[in-house]
Amino acid sequence: MNLFAPFCRRWLCALLLLAMPLAAAERLQLVTTVKPLALIAAQALGDRAEVSWLYAASQSPHQQPLRPSMLRQLAGADLVVWVGPSLEGALAATLRERPAQSVISFAELIAGPAAIERDSGGDGHNHSHDRGHDHDQRGDHTIDPHLWLQPAYAERLAAALRQRLGLPPRPLLSAAQLGEWQHRLGALQNRALLMPHRSLDYLTDFFGLRPAEALASAAGVDGGLRHQLSTLGAARYRCLLAERSEPDRRLQRFAEQLGRPLYSTDSLGAAIAPGDRGYSALIDSLVADLERCLSAR
Ligand SMILES: [Zn+2]
Repeated sequence: MNLFAPFCRRWLCALLLLAMPLAAAERLQLVTTVKPLALIAAQALGDRAEVSWLYAASQSPHQQPLRPSMLRQLAGADLVVWVGPSLEGALAATLRERPAQSVISFAELIAGPAAIERDSGGDGHNHSHDRGHDHDQRGDHTIDPHLWLQPAYAERLAAALRQRLGLPPRPLLSAAQLGEWQHRLGALQNRALLMPHRSLDYLTDFFGLRPAEALASAAGVDGGLRHQLSTLGAARYRCLLAERSEPDRRLQRFAEQLGRPLYSTDSLGAAIAPGDRGYSALIDSLVADLERCLSAR
């Protein structure tokens, strides 16, 4: 229904249209799987895109089932951004049916098409031992799917999205911001922390911190009792860092057992609104959480 129709002369309508921000129908309808990808896309594209995401940020994105509501949301998308089969395996078949131009795989953007094949199980015997590859307890060798936590990768995704819409390059994070974070974390380099799963390796690597020890792999696969025992004794932990999306009752018990404080982090940005600074705010909150946790006395 056109609300202006009863009183709208042609020239008045034209003026109204010019004055309005891009109407919803003209914006790129962009759907991401996990929320951090939506934070990157919204910050990169501003009002050129209407960004939404499929997975609730309060839930683990690992091994999420495919839901009918997701299919409906995907059907209305001009462009879908996902990580790849290592994270959202249940969506792989559905996304394969879309025109290739309407899907961006973050893993493929970073590691090339081989990353997708490897993650799909096309090559189960890839023995690359590069950093950023996860070796979980099943012996899988897949890319660590938390690609959004490597700021350099997030910049590449943002640049690819802006290029697609013909926008000039514009970084997500400023040098001043990166310098400030580096400064805050610089003195905490060799301190150990324990987490439910290996979600922050890219970020700790980026800031030169010691990688967190974890009970489960980057793919969310629990290491089991023996791994748990060896992990508990592996380091003198400064702190334990629970994740909002990965509730793990063991953390509280281990914190008491080790006599170390337990903090919490929102690694999927559940509390952060997408917008001009959403991705910056996500990294800022994670830096603050790491700083608090590793500074514990
Ligand atoms: Zn994860």
